[in-house]
Amino acid sequence: MKSIAYYNGKTGAPEEMTIPMLDRVCYFGDGVYDATMAAGNTIFLLDEHVDRLYHSAGLIDIQINMTKEELKAILQDMISRTDNRYSFVYFQFTRATAPRSHACPKGFSPNLWITVTPKVFRDFSQPMKLTSMEDQRYLYCNVKTLNLLPNVLAAQKAEAEGCNETVFHRGETVTECSHSNCSILLPGGILKTHPNDCHILPGITKAHMFKACEKLGIPVDETAFTLEELRQADEVIITSSSNLCSFAETFEGKPVGGKAPALLKALQQTMIQEFLDFCGLKSL
Ligand code: PMP
Repeated sequence: MKSIAYYNGKTGAPEEMTIPMLDRVCYFGDGVYDATMAAGNTIFLLDEHVDRLYHSAGLIDIQINMTKEELKAILQDMISRTDNRYSFVYFQFTRATAPRSHACPKGFSPNLWITVTPKVFRDFSQPMKLTSMEDQRYLYCNVKTLNLLPNVLAAQKAEAEGCNETVFHRGETVTECSHSNCSILLPGGILKTHPNDCHILPGITKAHMFKACEKLGIPVDETAFTLEELRQADEVIITSSSNLCSFAETFEGKPVGGKAPALLKALQQTMIQEFLDFCGLKSL
């Protein structure tokens, strides 16, 4: 079991790596990231995560100076240096290392950071406890930016309250969670979830859940839902690359979901099977 890090061609143990103070991420959080799980040397949905990273970079005009294929080769090389059964593969580009100035000085190129860390999925049978917080983030939530202060505060609120995740809401409207997307199963077996716009991250796991829904004949309604709809939902589903598909048993300290366990289990199973097939595994 081993963690390994990379910064602009240098590799080493994450706790021993150093980065220049003038990396713009230190002052401004000026960069974008992506992350996914790997089983052995197989990085789950790597193409989609690399595509989203380049898309995020494009949205904030970071000009990445390597091809997607070059980045994938570096990621594959990093994962091959570990012997973890499962790893969390994290990668980010920061805009530049340059003298501090809000507008980035010209002539500097992006920095690539990578970490590979041992990690397992949380137990899919264990429900989550959820709390809530007004979503005070700005309107770049579709960019997977390193400016994560509101997300950090929301995750800390969850932890302080003995919860696993915080549901963000703008007024009565649920957007997403601190580091996951939030969907609900409604009576009649319909899955409802916030549409992809500037208020949420377009989750890759959520997109794959849609495919699972198609397989299982579950209609998907990409319409924002309210806190009250969440409280009344048959099931509350939390998706992210690091935990695939979890569900909630409490929201703000009160019971939630638990009314469509068979459908929920079928959805989880379909998503776990996709992971196993992709990674060439028979079981987790
Ligand atoms: N929303 C936010 C704010 C996130 O940080 C994440 C996890 N990266 C997600 C949603 C889920 O996205 P994905 O399924 O692509 O991991």
